[in-house]
Amino acid sequence: TRGVTTLRPSPPDSVLWIVKTLEEAGHETWAVGGAVRDTFARRPAGDWDLTTHARPQEVRKIFKRTVPIGIEHGTVGGLDRDGTMFEVTTFRKDVETDGRHAVVAFAESVEEDLARRDFTMNAIAWHPLRGEHLDPFGGLADLEAGILRTVGEPEERFSEDYLRILRAFRFAGRFGLDIDPLTWAAMTSFAEYLSGLSAERIREELLKVLSADPSPSVTLGLYAEAGAIAVLYPEWENIRRDRPGEWEAAMATVDRLPLGNAPLRLAALLRGVDRSAAAHLLGRLKLSNAQTDEVAHRAAADPLPGPGEDDEVFRRWLSRTGPDRLGVVARLDLAGARTQVSGEAAYETVASWQRARHVRRSGVPLCTADLAVDGRDLIASGLRPGPRFGELLDQALDVVLRDPDQNTREALLSHIREWTREPTA
Ligand code: ATP
Ligand code: MG
Repeated sequence: TRGVTTLRPSPPDSVLWIVKTLEEAGHETWAVGGAVRDTFARRPAGDWDLTTHARPQEVRKIFKRTVPIGIEHGTVGGLDRDGTMFEVTTFRKDVETDGRHAVVAFAESVEEDLARRDFTMNAIAWHPLRGEHLDPFGGLADLEAGILRTVGEPEERFSEDYLRILRAFRFAGRFGLDIDPLTWAAMTSFAEYLSGLSAERIREELLKVLSADPSPSVTLGLYAEAGAIAVLYPEWENIRRDRPGEWEAAMATVDRLPLGNAPLRLAALLRGVDRSAAAHLLGRLKLSNAQTDEVAHRAAADPLPGPGEDDEVFRRWLSRTGPDRLGVVARLDLAGARTQVSGEAAYETVASWQRARHVRRSGVPLCTADLAVDGRDLIASGLRPGPRFGELLDQALDVVLRDPDQNTREALLSHIREWTREPTA
């Protein structure tokens, strides 16, 4: 389990510098986690996690510029010589757990630290200066064979922290791994306990799947198969059960949307969900109000009109959807159209998108702010301010959406005078 690797991971210089600095101060320090796993799997590595014998206070003394980001968990953030952020976590061991959080205490050895990690492939340590690795749980062999397996007894490890079940879906889905049968059996039998996880942890996992999985349908398929969709996302479960064709189409669509854009992919998954159910699901995720609102708008947007429709239909669609949402809704429509076998639907969507862009660029009025009259004009023409103002401006917008040439002060004020004239007996 201890060996010298032929593989030469190439961590950034700052990682080498941090390890060197800590070791020169007498503290054993190793690279662990995702970057080590991905390097051994010959994938590009993301963030480098470092684990050290030094206690947080010692880390803070050794590096001049540090921030106590998660000091109670032993994590210290710092700035290296070029100002890049790094995170160093003190060796830890689990002490006591409740399935919601793993409560940790500091440990003396890196081996103890590896033992509290979730999966064998995430429990490999690599020494960036010595090129040595530690693999006490056979993580390299599992990586080689493409098997996801817990460190230790699956039931025990999942009941310490049920989030590990969601992490297992994500690693298996993202990297196309087979889940070891005992690990899988524990995941399915504990799926019901996922409801006890905090909204934030559930949301962060979903956002990781949506922003970084090349094909979220694989991970979400595992969620579904293990019963986790039913527990965490009953709104999706209803569609999956009652309208499987629609769920399949949503899965195919989400896979065609780009990585790195979780709100776009989330909107794709909510497009078939009715508004109030979508609001429920988004509310549970506890995104920011602005994000919730934007995702809900995208999800509720009508599809683009067909390319053969009149300009008026396009103006009304842009007005209803919000001209700034044209790009995102067109991308959602296009991803959906591309799931169809014939190329016709995608071709039509592109044609519609071009029509809509053309209409939008022509500068025609699409919202009340674009009108040639505003509230002050209404006051100037003798009307008293009140809720009726909004209705009058909406009516005026309706007129100019039908005929943009009507967007002049004179024409609109004359309509408004007509609409507000006292009925003559
Ligand atoms: P990613 O590429 O998503 O960052 P990662 O494996 O680096 O994958 P992190 O969430 O950054 O995942 O965690 C770093 C490491 O910490 C993991 O590789 C694993 O060893 C350990 N770890 C993280 N979360 C848990 C958990 N809930 N239970 C046990 N170990 C965990
Ligand atoms: Mg990581």
